[in-house]
Amino acid sequence: MYWNKEMETIDRESLEKIQLERLQKTVVRMYNNTKFYHDRMDAAGVKPEDIKTLKDIAKLPFMDKRDLRDNYPTDTFAAPREEIVRIHASSGTTGKPIVAGYTRNDLDMWSEAVARCLGCAGITAKDTVQVSYGYGLFTGGLGVHDGATKMGCTVVPTSAGNTKRQLMLMNDLGTNAVCCTPSYALMMGEYIRDNGVDKSNWPLRVGIFGAEPWTEGMRTEIEALLGVKALDIYGLTETVGPGVAMECIEGQHGLHMWEDFFIPEIVDPETGDPLPDGELGELVITTICKEGMPTVRFRTHDLTRIIPEPCKCGRTHKRIERLKGRTDDMLIIRGVNVFPSQVEAAITGIPGIAPRYMLIVDRVNNLDTLEIQVEMLPDLISDSVREIENLRMTVKNAIEQILGLGVTVTLMNPNTIERSEGKSKHTIDKRKLL
Ligand SMILES: [Zn+2]
Repeated sequence: MYWNKEMETIDRESLEKIQLERLQKTVVRMYNNTKFYHDRMDAAGVKPEDIKTLKDIAKLPFMDKRDLRDNYPTDTFAAPREEIVRIHASSGTTGKPIVAGYTRNDLDMWSEAVARCLGCAGITAKDTVQVSYGYGLFTGGLGVHDGATKMGCTVVPTSAGNTKRQLMLMNDLGTNAVCCTPSYALMMGEYIRDNGVDKSNWPLRVGIFGAEPWTEGMRTEIEALLGVKALDIYGLTETVGPGVAMECIEGQHGLHMWEDFFIPEIVDPETGDPLPDGELGELVITTICKEGMPTVRFRTHDLTRIIPEPCKCGRTHKRIERLKGRTDDMLIIRGVNVFPSQVEAAITGIPGIAPRYMLIVDRVNNLDTLEIQVEMLPDLISDSVREIENLRMTVKNAIEQILGLGVTVTLMNPNTIERSEGKSKHTIDKRKLL
């Protein structure tokens, strides 16, 4: 089911013509409108007019999450403030979030991308789509919402949470498609299994799941529990949000990236050298339609490969394989990006606390949990239970404020958190996702 057949099945030559024009325009916009990228291009000795072919993209300097942090909040914006009509945000590597600005054209492009993704799942304007992603600064809720509205679907914006009511509405309204994180989908499935939910009117047939890594094993479980085809969607705040790439229901293997909006590259994570299609490496994305906050050669730190074979659905846009992991230490917990460095920033300077910590991630009843162990300083340990509990709450509040996520904090005795030689290890991920 194509949303935009002409563009989704466009021949490579015409597509590349569009890509080159849009890439050149984006580079001019970045060079003229953002100081940090202007300086970086100057330092690399490259001018906008040097981009004559698509291969010349390799001449351009990379961007990283750090650029968005260093230029917080809005110095990465490449459009005047009066043209920015929406702000979203996600976690950065330390205390400050990554802020993304969208012009009206950006929002139109985004909903077009999401509408194509819904089409990949066989969804049409006749369907009822329940958006169970969180709404707010997180891109999931509003991103999918706008795309489904553009398609003409009946949108039910339940947001995440309140599973009982969520499932009641799903049944009573005859929801055909649900969009949420895969872990929440599993939770809903288990709720149905364990609570005898009324499924007398249950036309749910497809689920679009993303914003965190998941596995084929989770797919099988979700499909069985919810009675749906489960499909993978990809995106990140820095490139727009969900909708950058999507698995089609026909192939259910690999995610088509909308190449008239985004240019994918796979590079060697160590050297940054481009790798040929088919080889595993780090995904780098250039947005070629964005105005508010374009990203040029953005290092996603996601490991994947481009599937060179054509897809049986007939779409000509390249597919990336399901993500294989990360090249950095970012964790995705309940859809929220978490970096150990954020925890470090949060606890630094709290009296009585040592800069020693460990993040322990687990999945309990299909919900991600995060326990943070923090060491106390030996000479400041109080023997008052109340004082220790106060200290624990101070640490918990400081961390939660930075992460935007509920955590369990355990205060540890001095010298109990494992030390390691060289690069210290700050995370234990027990979820075995990948
Ligand atoms: Zn396909």
